Amino acid sequence: MKLPGISRWLPLDHYSFVATTLLLVALVLSSWFISRHWLDLRIQSQIQELKLQSTQATDAAVEHLQRDNQHASKIARSLSSLSSLQRFLNNPRYSTALQADLNQFGKAFELEGIWLLDRQGKVLSQSTASPPPPEYDRYTDGKRPLARLIFDPEQQQARIYHANPVTKNGSVTLLICATIAPISLQAYRIELLVTDADRIISLSDNPDRLGYLLAGPATRQPTDTAARHPSLPISISPLVPEVLLLGPRHEPVLLVSHTTESKDYQVHALADAEPIYRLAREKDSLAAIITLASTGSLWGGILTILTLQRNRRHHLAMSRANDELLHLNRQLKQLATTDPLTQCPNRRAAETRLKYELAKLQRYHHPFCIVMLDIDYFKRINDQHGHDIGDQVLRHFAIIGRKTIRDTDVLARIGGEEFLLILPETAFDQGMQLAQRLLDTLAATPLYLTDRTIGFTFSGGMTQAAAEDNISQLLIRADHALYQAKEQGRCRICSAALPQSQSVAVG
Ligand code: GH3
Ligand code: MG
Ligand code: MG
Repeated sequence: MKLPGISRWLPLDHYSFVATTLLLVALVLSSWFISRHWLDLRIQSQIQELKLQSTQATDAAVEHLQRDNQHASKIARSLSSLSSLQRFLNNPRYSTALQADLNQFGKAFELEGIWLLDRQGKVLSQSTASPPPPEYDRYTDGKRPLARLIFDPEQQQARIYHANPVTKNGSVTLLICATIAPISLQAYRIELLVTDADRIISLSDNPDRLGYLLAGPATRQPTDTAARHPSLPISISPLVPEVLLLGPRHEPVLLVSHTTESKDYQVHALADAEPIYRLAREKDSLAAIITLASTGSLWGGILTILTLQRNRRHHLAMSRANDELLHLNRQLKQLATTDPLTQCPNRRAAETRLKYELAKLQRYHHPFCIVMLDIDYFKRINDQHGHDIGDQVLRHFAIIGRKTIRDTDVLARIGGEEFLLILPETAFDQGMQLAQRLLDTLAATPLYLTDRTIGFTFSGGMTQAAAEDNISQLLIRADHALYQAKEQGRCRICSAALPQSQSVAVG
């Protein structure tokens, strides 16, 4: 079956076909790999951006918590230097005064509890509202001031505990417990979590997360306390290693953790990585679309350029052919209207011109004359000098004739040695003068050859055209006049346009 539209573009030989196919395959493959690489870069850059946002969010949260912590630490230090406390240490009888101070300051600083503990964790004194203190080793090593963020699973709440050694040898420690001022940890597309030293989620705007162990994929073995808490279900995603899948619905998230210097708590950002993961999931189909679009448009572009080039070549060839045709036409017209021997217009051209001049006369009354010319005794010239010389005589006659007449006049060869002069815009008298001048000029200009000189004359029959004439009437009238000129002895012009014909002889 012939498919003209497509087959125009199918390469004609096998090599071109294979080359084109290879080019197309190379285009498809390179676009495929480039688009996949580009999508990978896009995924990575989005991950970096999300990590940066998460880091900024965790930094801000850490700063906030640090401020709370320092405030609580200052309170613990101030309480440690209470005079009632020193007095109590010197003499336990002063416990009432100490307790009154602890109650008063506890209320003033909105503390949850104040305890005075010995090295074994035994309570020596405490404010009345204080609940029992948490396990001793969780908040102090007995030597330095320490701060701990401890999550209370029953209350589902985190508290900051600050321990400050009261005696130099660390035998007595003051412990205070402060609640953490509520802070909004939410950020756009980022959920912040605070875990305590055991990585238990202690602070979160999402209460469902509280109490869970945040065991990242690469965390150390949980402690005993941590082991009692369920782990937040997190797994590594198969598509992008940086992205974790959270919970039963496998929500894609990025986990960015910020560990404080004291390692009392950690702030984590769970950033929503759904757009990134979607990009990774749809990477292949996106790459296929990009490949199709880019290959298609590239191929379309190549075909368009080829088409334009082909059209241009076609156009050039056409215009060259057209030029040649025009040239040939001109040549043909020239051949059809010109006598090859004398280069004068031939009979056909003369008739065309006559038709035109007659029309002009009939329409605009522009006068014109014609003179029929016949070389005298030409047969004799041929006989005496040969046919070739006869031809030269004809050419000579044509040259002299053309030189004598005006540019607007026409000298046509209408027979063997017969010529016709067409004289547009010429009245009878002017016509006669011109014919006479030609007769004189030719008499004075014989044909000079190397070995001889050939003088010759002609006879002419002149007539002026009348509006009612047609070509043959006009020519017959001129022919009549010519006949008269021959009759009257040749070498003269006779006219037939006037009522009485006139003849003018040379000399
Ligand atoms: P007249 O004065 O009565 O016109 O005599 P003439 O000899 O010119 O008249 P005629 O008609 O008898 O002879 C014309 C001759 O012109 C006859 C022919 O051989 C010759 N002739 C016609 N065409 C050509 C041509 O193209 N070349 C040459 N050399 N001779 C030609
Ligand atoms: Mg003749
Ligand atoms: Mg003749």
